[in-house]
Amino acid sequence: MKIIDGKALAAKMRAQLKEKIDASELKPGLAVVLVGEDPASQIYVRNKIKACEEIGVKSYAYRLPADTSQKQLEDLLEELAASKDIHGILLQLPLPKGLQAEPAMAKIPYEKDVDGFSKENLGKLVLKEDGLVSCTPYGVMKMLESEGISPKGKRAVVLGRSDTVGKPMALLLLNADATVTVCHSKTQNLKEICQEADILVAAIGRAKFVTEDMVKEGAVVVDVGINRDENGKLCGDVDYENVAKKASYITPVPGGVGPMTITMLMYNTCLAAFESI
Ligand code: NAP
Repeated sequence: MKIIDGKALAAKMRAQLKEKIDASELKPGLAVVLVGEDPASQIYVRNKIKACEEIGVKSYAYRLPADTSQKQLEDLLEELAASKDIHGILLQLPLPKGLQAEPAMAKIPYEKDVDGFSKENLGKLVLKEDGLVSCTPYGVMKMLESEGISPKGKRAVVLGRSDTVGKPMALLLLNADATVTVCHSKTQNLKEICQEADILVAAIGRAKFVTEDMVKEGAVVVDVGINRDENGKLCGDVDYENVAKKASYITPVPGGVGPMTITMLMYNTCLAAFESI
């Protein structure tokens, strides 16, 4: 069994991006918009700004009060959309009660949608066209690639069907020629479906949900989940210790998919600025 070290891959990719930025006159700019005081969102925003600083992306942080109106938020996003210095715009979700995410997100042009959440970028993924891809599933693809794991012809099972993780993950694997099954909370015979997976991606947000008996011998197991176990310790959706005995490759939590997500945000910001990397 091999552990796929997301932290190491993330560091390597960030160093490559830094090199590219250092060698370029153009400095990629990322605007991060946070509305309200949600503590988890504040940490995420802080980490994103830190990652920008590390590699030389210029960050523009906008921290708006929770009573910001829909119009004020949309006006700011329109302003950022028009700015030549800003190549990527990220609206930190969830928004405080009273604000609607969808019309606000619609103000972000798809060329600057570095989260890959827009309808245009999701449509491009469906059509297998170049676009900005949702950071977490894109990071998973980079992790597979780094280990020389090709999804071509493999049976892939994705647990979770969220618009930001599960669905784009399934599309990426499908576009890479895997035979993909997506499971969700209404799926029947989930255990049997998982047992057929050559590549199993868990993105449901249930601590240690994927147990050893659900995993085929030699499967590649990717754990996207971020949860707390009964002792308050950080854990994924996979019962890591037991599943690791059967898997050929496995991603740990922490240190697996997590570090890749912010790295792919940096990657997408560079892609938006330079048009190719
Ligand atoms: P989400 O929007 O809550 O979606 C969860 C999905 O899992 C839904 O499709 C849901 O099914 C499905 N599900 C829930 N319980 C299930 C069960 N018992 N059996 C089968 N399917 C079940 O979550 P998300 O945003 O996709 O995130 C998923 C997990 O990944 C979370 O732990 C989150 O913290 C983590 N995450 C990590 C990163 C990272 O950087 N590592 C990034 C994003 C998310 P229904 O559609 O039927 O409700």
